Amino acid sequence: MASLFTHVVAAGALGQAAAPERRSDRRFWYMAALVSVLPDADVIGFKLGVRYGDLWGHRGMTHSLLFAAILGLAAAARFKPAWKGEGRRLALVFTLITASHGLLDALTNGGLGMTFFAPFNRSRYFLPWRPILVSPIGAANFFNEYGRRVILSEIRWVWLPALAIGALLRLLKRPRAG
Ligand SMILES: [Zn+2]
Repeated sequence: MASLFTHVVAAGALGQAAAPERRSDRRFWYMAALVSVLPDADVIGFKLGVRYGDLWGHRGMTHSLLFAAILGLAAAARFKPAWKGEGRRLALVFTLITASHGLLDALTNGGLGMTFFAPFNRSRYFLPWRPILVSPIGAANFFNEYGRRVILSEIRWVWLPALAIGALLRLLKRPRAG
């Protein structure tokens, strides 16, 4: 995993693609943060005896594109009917945010790859370039030298690009004056 906070930072950037009225709604941002970290709910499986490499293991089904699409639709439906007008756009934004989770994990240098195409294909994928130091599972493991290096690599490879992307989207989505 990348750290949970970093997934939320990505949500903050991609959420700028939503309609301006939506962006001023605090509930939208709560939902965006929630869907960005929800894929890692699969770590519960470790406690339940699910093996890492299983379909429902860590970085399995919940890190797939299908899961991102379903979660995106479900999240949007909390605000608007997800099959028309702004609801459709909202579903797309939530899907992108959820999918960004697996994509960021696929840039990390440890653990197993993502089953992006589960359940149809259970191969596990990383991106060819993996500059982000993998984050330890469990907050207690953060407060040491390795944790510090993880944060620095996430700032460099995620937070700064996210800031740039967010600013760009905001600029493009600015309500036109006059
Ligand atoms: Zn993850």
